Amino acid sequence: MGVVITQYRCTACQVSSSVEILDPDLGRQGEAVANMLAQMRLEYATCPACGARNPAGVLDQRRDERNIAIFTIVLMVGLSIGAYFAPWIVLGWLGLFAALYLYFLSKRPTWTVVFNLATTLGLGVIVWFVPRWAFLLLAVPTIQLLIRRRDPAERDQPWQRAAEQLRFFDTSQRRP
Ligand SMILES: [Zn+2]
Repeated sequence: MGVVITQYRCTACQVSSSVEILDPDLGRQGEAVANMLAQMRLEYATCPACGARNPAGVLDQRRDERNIAIFTIVLMVGLSIGAYFAPWIVLGWLGLFAALYLYFLSKRPTWTVVFNLATTLGLGVIVWFVPRWAFLLLAVPTIQLLIRRRDPAERDQPWQRAAEQLRFFDTSQRRP
C-alpha cells in the first residue's frame, strides 16, 4: 500500500509543509489519481505553522453555501408561488413526507417520527379544507431558511475531516 506524501504551501505565511494523506484508498489509486485526490484533500487543510485555513477551501465553501442558498430559495419560492395557484402541490409534498415518515417508522419507530407523521397528516387535512392558504406551508419554511444562520459546527466539518486525514511533519508546531 503506497503512502501519499505531498507538499502544502500556505499562502498566509508562505511556509511549505510536508504532509502525509492518511487515506488508505489513496494508496490504491494510480499516482496521477492519487495526486489529484491529495490536492482535493489539501483544499481544506489548516496550516500547521500559522493555523490559517487554506483560502481556496474557504472560498470554495463560501461559493458552495451561496449556491445552495440560491438553489433552495429559488426552489422554495417557486413551489410557494406554484402552491398559491395549485394547492395540490402542497398535498403532493406532504404526501411525500408522510410516505418518508412511514418508511422511517417501519425501520425504526421513534416518537419524533410519530409526531412528524401526525403533524404532516394534520397539515394535509388543513390544506384539504382550506387550500387557499396552503402556500403558507411552503412560504413559512422559505422565510425560516432565509433568516437561518448556518450552524458553525456544520461549517467546521470539512476542516475537521481534513485535519483527521492530514498528518503534517517537519514543520514547527502550530502556535498555541
Ligand atoms: Zn501558514
